[in-house]
Amino acid sequence: MIKPGLKIGILLTLIVVLPSLFFSAYEISNLNKNEVVIDSIYSSQLESILFSVNQYSDDVVNGWANQLDKGKYGLEKEMELLVTKNYAIDAFYLIDSVKQILLPKEKITADSISKLSHQLENALANNKGSIERLQQYIKSGYQKIGVLDFEMKGKSLFAFARAVDTLSVETVFLLVDTQKFIRENLGPKIQGIAQDQFFISVIDKKLNTEIYSNVPYDDVEKNIQQRREIWLFPDFDLGIQMKGNTIEDLVRERTKTNIIMLIVMDLILLLGAWFVYRNIRQQMKLTQLKSDFVSNVSHEIRTPLALINMYSETLEMGRLSSEEKKQEYYRVINTEANRLSNMVNNILNFSKMESGKREYHFKESDLNQNMLTIFENYRQHLYKKGFEINFKACADLPLIIIDKEAVSEALINLIDNAVKYSGDTKRIDIVCDKNSDFAFIQVIDFGIGIATKDQPLIFDKFYRVTSGDLANKVKGSGIGLSIVKHIMEAHKGQITVESSKEKGTCFTMSFPLQ
Ligand code: ADP
Repeated sequence: MIKPGLKIGILLTLIVVLPSLFFSAYEISNLNKNEVVIDSIYSSQLESILFSVNQYSDDVVNGWANQLDKGKYGLEKEMELLVTKNYAIDAFYLIDSVKQILLPKEKITADSISKLSHQLENALANNKGSIERLQQYIKSGYQKIGVLDFEMKGKSLFAFARAVDTLSVETVFLLVDTQKFIRENLGPKIQGIAQDQFFISVIDKKLNTEIYSNVPYDDVEKNIQQRREIWLFPDFDLGIQMKGNTIEDLVRERTKTNIIMLIVMDLILLLGAWFVYRNIRQQMKLTQLKSDFVSNVSHEIRTPLALINMYSETLEMGRLSSEEKKQEYYRVINTEANRLSNMVNNILNFSKMESGKREYHFKESDLNQNMLTIFENYRQHLYKKGFEINFKACADLPLIIIDKEAVSEALINLIDNAVKYSGDTKRIDIVCDKNSDFAFIQVIDFGIGIATKDQPLIFDKFYRVTSGDLANKVKGSGIGLSIVKHIMEAHKGQITVESSKEKGTCFTMSFPLQ
């Protein structure tokens, strides 16, 4: 059969702990999913920003082509206008009609013209296919500006075809200073898009160095999150990063906080469930102890009552002839009646204590005298039971403030226990002593002793040690020591125990002298 405590534990786990753990696991896995979704939304947002920068540079170059082709002042004049407005354009080159290079004079010196024209010739030979394709496009009515392979450091070569008349097509080449284009044409756009939210930089792929950024390179630690090639300049990449905490950081931080909160919540729940479990188990134990108490007390009351009954009936029937025997029977009746009255008093005092109604009457008293009276009262009785009982008074003990009745009650409880749990060595020492702060009363026996694990528990109400032959046989209610503890607390003192199994026990009541 499953123990009731275990049953409650299993029930609590099933009702409270498991659902919350499942919920937490579900939430944590969802948080991870959310993180992935947010991450991908964020990536596509960065991607679209880079796309728009790319798109813009394409638009700029196409705008040039459009102006050159359709501008109202004719090709050459438009070239001049374009060059003066755009410092990135180094030169134009026309083929198929006149083969000429048009240069803004201040940009390229005359002696490099021949070198340039040679490089352009080479480029034309290398990009034949691309140039033919551009011419093909214009014949189908679609103008496109294309970027050509060009081996000149820092320069890019663009080309577009234009229809001169219905029969002939010419190709216009634009030699562009790449870095100038990036700084002057792309720069403002990048600044506009990035504003205060992003770092956008242009990176030279071969050297892996940044050649432009909306925030100067050394200013910030950059950790580029997305890189995309610039369509017009395949040797360069655009890189982007969010300023401050990135969305990934924010999501990660939030996820971390949520996970911590869930774990803390689970721990609190587990702790709560454990407290409830412990409380219920304690209550069940107490209920069990109470029911044991009732059966123990009934049993204890029954024994003296049966003796009184038996002895008084014998006396009543007049069966005893000897006066001596009669006296002995009276004594037994008296002793048993006293025992009963002690027991009932104990229970009444305990019940008053429990309801907080017990009152104490403190007076200056002589503790030695108090103990001596009890010792005298008990000596005869214990002697008859075969006990050796010793009493040692305390020298120079001042008067102390105590409730005499209550202290006697506590001492009697301790002596009763010493008698009950003494076994074969029937000796009890009652010792009074003092130090500078406390007066002590010790009740020492040489009986069965108390196991270390039970020692902290014996002062709890209804607690009884039931292991061991004698402890099991001896009847008791389990309230004696809790009464002693209550009395000592009322005196601002304490009760302590030292004991070892089969050797004996020493209970010490300490009373503050001040
Ligand atoms: P009880 O009515 O059972 O004696 P108490 O509260 O007086 O109840 O004591 C609690 C338990 O402490 C006892 O059941 C007993 O096991 C143990 N105990 C108390 N005094 C002694 C002692 N002098 N020697 C050994 N065990 C003792």
